[in-house]
Amino acid sequence: MHKNRIDILGTEFDNFTEKQFHELISTDLDNKANKFIVTPNPEIVLSARNNNRFSNIVNNADYVIPDGIGIIKGANMLGTPMHERITGFDTLMFLIEQANKKHLKVYLLGAKPEVIKASADRIKREFTGIDLVGYHDGYFNDNGMVAADIEEKQPDIVLVALGSPKQEYFINKYRDRCTAVWIGVGGSFDVFSGTKKRAPEIIQKLSLEWFYRLVKEPTRIGRMFAIPKYLMLIQKEKRNK
Ligand code: UDP
Repeated sequence: MHKNRIDILGTEFDNFTEKQFHELISTDLDNKANKFIVTPNPEIVLSARNNNRFSNIVNNADYVIPDGIGIIKGANMLGTPMHERITGFDTLMFLIEQANKKHLKVYLLGAKPEVIKASADRIKREFTGIDLVGYHDGYFNDNGMVAADIEEKQPDIVLVALGSPKQEYFINKYRDRCTAVWIGVGGSFDVFSGTKKRAPEIIQKLSLEWFYRLVKEPTRIGRMFAIPKYLMLIQKEKRNK
């Protein structure tokens, strides 16, 4: 286990404030370090619990960041409180702003072709300091071609939106091909490109973003069952402590 990590049902989280985390990432970018960031929510914690290979990949990442209020609540319930939630989307925006300021090379991978194109267009339009070296949609057979493209372009930051666990498997397999900060960002390009709206700020503040997504995308209901199951397991763990 990494030093100071907090164990939530087998997933080991770093306990940083967002400010501390940003400082670390900023230094990593300055040092041109090879880093892997994962941002698990309760659904990912549950799937890691049932999948050793995935669990090892997550726990061996350089940063394991609590995306989702459920993680913070779970940590409180277990008596190991964490500083704060740090969302994958906010981390994506921080990396983009850093890249813009520091004139870094960025590669975008994942989401539907029109979504990744719209995301690339937004970067070219609004973040002119970024050297966007390449982008590719997330619907491909992994025959090594995409990884070869990333290797050839040698970006400083690789943003991967293939959903979990696909994006973590991809990063784990190919992160040695180039020295970059690699992160799995889930559905973030759908929001970044303007294809999907993020919940209004008040809903984010009330920690009801999950409910907003459910109302907007009722097909997520099956995935939402992960939350009560997760809370039940936390209760059980608490009793056994
Ligand atoms: N996706 C992809 N390739 C796939 C499956 C999914 O690029 O084979 C993309 C999908 O288009 C979406 C993202 O991965 O942009 C996953 O979104 P989801 O809402 O599942 O992620 P979450 O934010 O809930 O982790």
